[in-house]
Amino acid sequence: MALLQRMVEIESPSDDKAALDRMGGFLAEQFQQLGGSISFSQQREAGNHLKAEFPGRAGKPLLLLGHFDTVWSMGTLANMPFRIDSGRAHGPGIYDMKAGITMMIFALQALAASGGNGHRPVTVVLDTDEEVGSRTGRPFLEAAARECEAVLVLEPSTGPKGYLKTSRKGVGETTIRVRGVASHSGVDFEKGHSAIVELARQLLEVVKFTDTARGITVNPGVIHGGTRTNVVAAEAWAGVDLRILRAADAAALEQRLADLKPFDSSCSIEISGGINRPPMERTEGTVRLFRVAQELGSAIGMDVEESSTGGGSDGNFTSALGIPTLDGLGALGEGAHAVNESIVVDELPRRAALLAGLLQSL
Ligand SMILES: [Zn+2]
Repeated sequence: MALLQRMVEIESPSDDKAALDRMGGFLAEQFQQLGGSISFSQQREAGNHLKAEFPGRAGKPLLLLGHFDTVWSMGTLANMPFRIDSGRAHGPGIYDMKAGITMMIFALQALAASGGNGHRPVTVVLDTDEEVGSRTGRPFLEAAARECEAVLVLEPSTGPKGYLKTSRKGVGETTIRVRGVASHSGVDFEKGHSAIVELARQLLEVVKFTDTARGITVNPGVIHGGTRTNVVAAEAWAGVDLRILRAADAAALEQRLADLKPFDSSCSIEISGGINRPPMERTEGTVRLFRVAQELGSAIGMDVEESSTGGGSDGNFTSALGIPTLDGLGALGEGAHAVNESIVVDELPRRAALLAGLLQSL
């Protein structure tokens, strides 16, 4: 709890390089004290991504994967301080995912304390822009993952029983931008071609691409357009969230978006973006990891179950490379990205023990 409290109190929002680099420095010290060799991927705007490598027996390393950026702006701590109340620890980023990083540290400590190098080498990779799409973190973590046997992701677990995650949806974002023709809505109404009306019609088309049975959803989540009510709008755009369950569905969905044509030929439309996080599919390799976790769990009286989620993580990238990836190994709690963000304190030790067991047996 003391270590976790220190981490929560070093705020580290995705958009604050200085803050992220402070957090990275603190974590580097922790991993170094455990015997890790530290390296940073230096970034100009994002925080520097951290890698710590631990020796082991021969063989490919296991990758412990996570991020130390949070969705919480600098200063959040003032209104949402670290506190423990009724068995739960609260604070910005505690569940997503500073508790998961704490578990990594304690699992590595347990491994070192058990003596011997019977386990595989372990590589820890923590990136700093996961919450904003891992734009710079992705190549760094993918390069590390390619060297590894399997990936264990310490993102939060699912639900009140702390289920692991064996599949995640792929995530994308598209922007639909419409240019119309402005005019005075009273004097020259006929000369105008409303970008807002055109965009509205386009959105009614794209929502038809949703196919919940196939796990495809299309959500126009942001809309902007126009200047004044007495002006026929010259411009409008919408930001649309895309989710897919199967990698094979990405190309078809992107094609359907690219094929959109304006209803009003005096308007033009421009589509940008697409799927940027491939789905983490429930592969054989991932299921194998899950079975090992389940067996280890039963040895310590822990009911280990699997789940699937619509949310993406960096595990999507490593899984898409074909590397067995088990996610949701982090804390049990609730309220990721929400004011009730918290973890169940008593669940931390055995979840860390499960992680140490995985590091020892895989
Ligand atoms: Zn996260």
